[in-house]
Amino acid sequence: MKTLGYAALSATSPLAPFAFERRALRPNDVAMEILYCGVCHSDLHTSRNDWGWTSFPNVPGHEIVGRVIEVGGEVTQHAVGDIVAVGCLVDSCQHCDQCHGGEEQYCRNGRTDTYNSPDRISGEITKGGYSKHIVVREEFVLSVPPGLDPARTGPLLCAGITTYSPLRTWNVGPGSRVGVIGLGGLGHMAVKLAAAMGAHVTVLSRSTDKQADALALGADSLLASSDKRAMAAAQASFDLIIDTVPVKHDLNPYLPLLDINGTLVIVGQVGPLAEPHTAHLILGRRSIAGSLIGGIAQTQELLDFCARKNIHPDCEMIRMDQVHEAFERMEKADVRYRFVIDMASLQA
Ligand SMILES: [Zn+2]
Ligand SMILES: [Zn+2]
Repeated sequence: MKTLGYAALSATSPLAPFAFERRALRPNDVAMEILYCGVCHSDLHTSRNDWGWTSFPNVPGHEIVGRVIEVGGEVTQHAVGDIVAVGCLVDSCQHCDQCHGGEEQYCRNGRTDTYNSPDRISGEITKGGYSKHIVVREEFVLSVPPGLDPARTGPLLCAGITTYSPLRTWNVGPGSRVGVIGLGGLGHMAVKLAAAMGAHVTVLSRSTDKQADALALGADSLLASSDKRAMAAAQASFDLIIDTVPVKHDLNPYLPLLDINGTLVIVGQVGPLAEPHTAHLILGRRSIAGSLIGGIAQTQELLDFCARKNIHPDCEMIRMDQVHEAFERMEKADVRYRFVIDMASLQA
């Protein structure tokens, strides 16, 4: 199938229109016309080869919403015309303990990412959602429930599941005391989701500048990390802190905020941290953890949860040719809170 995308041809060339072929349908494949695709920080880092593992040409995008246009002969879960979604994963081994447990993101034999990842059968490098069409095996295609607006569903597939999964892993519910560090694409979803679960939510921010934004998203309060008195008063008052900060930072100011047995879970930054002081951990049996996106079943659970609770990410719709500007604004944290590309704007 011929299609059109937007690709980076090298780490230094800007994304530009790029014609390529999607694979012919295998019996368990679903082909979709992409309607919308969210813009994630990973798209920018991969296009610029910031992590050193990019294969070019690179077509990014893993917050995909589309309409099914064709299905393989063995497909039972999706039909032509369905509104569906694809997130960060398009395949895994399907037989290891992690895949059986619905945690395909931790597949023992290596997950297949939606872009920049070798296909398990052909070895061809996967290409993502900055394109008109995609072909994905049916187990990795999600259903978008009628209660969700397709134009604002994309960011749930990466930013949403990245924050929903730890909230579920650490059993957040009514009365849980949850802190969220950072109020970007991930942080704003963490606030909305934790609040919808009935938690008492506090945004942790450098200053009180974002107080009105935090409250508008559903947080109960904002704690300014620069306010030494407020930070001291808040010691031992959180069950879970979701840390969405994307750059190297110091956890030591935050660890004493955890109650005994509390956990700080890192979902933003991949890389070295400033040294944490173990006294904070030992003296309160506190933990530092990490978490990567979420499995397919849990991602469907998230979509159903958001439809039921009428939760949508805050999105700014852009044209495909505005993606460079979007990358630049993302680097300055100048977006509330996620860019979504209207794929109808991508023309030959
Ligand atoms: Zn992402
Ligand atoms: Zn597996």
